[in-house]
Amino acid sequence: MRKARTVKYEFIELLPSTLEPETLYVSLKYKNMVHLCFCGCGRKVITPLSPTGWELTFNGREVSVFPSIGSWNLPCRSHYWITRSRVEWDEQWSAERIAGGFARDRADKERYYRRDAQPHVMRDSGDPEVARSEERRSLWERMKRWF
Ligand SMILES: [Zn+2]
Repeated sequence: MRKARTVKYEFIELLPSTLEPETLYVSLKYKNMVHLCFCGCGRKVITPLSPTGWELTFNGREVSVFPSIGSWNLPCRSHYWITRSRVEWDEQWSAERIAGGFARDRADKERYYRRDAQPHVMRDSGDPEVARSEERRSLWERMKRWF
């Protein structure tokens, strides 16, 4: 297994049936990114593009992703940043820090969805929890309009 140092990118609409290693696939249509874990373990890592997910920066030649990608649920527990198409390896988090990170993530999501934001669709985010709450709200929005 070889740890990736640099990554290629591909802007796609639909996910190809076979993914190339060391390549970040970006679907703007489905607001999602996917790649095979850059440690070389071959696991698929999905990072939704959303205000509470990941941000993609593209300068025309290189891609950057924010924040870091920590695959805590994979056996390799890889943690890295993608900065200008370079993979910067970071330390693995301790169990406590992972729990803290998830807790913060949840709080961010709650804050975000409680805001009176414009409707936005995240059904393709790959996050069923988010998709469900979006559906509930859009139904509520529709009902409000009826009255
Ligand atoms: Zn891995």
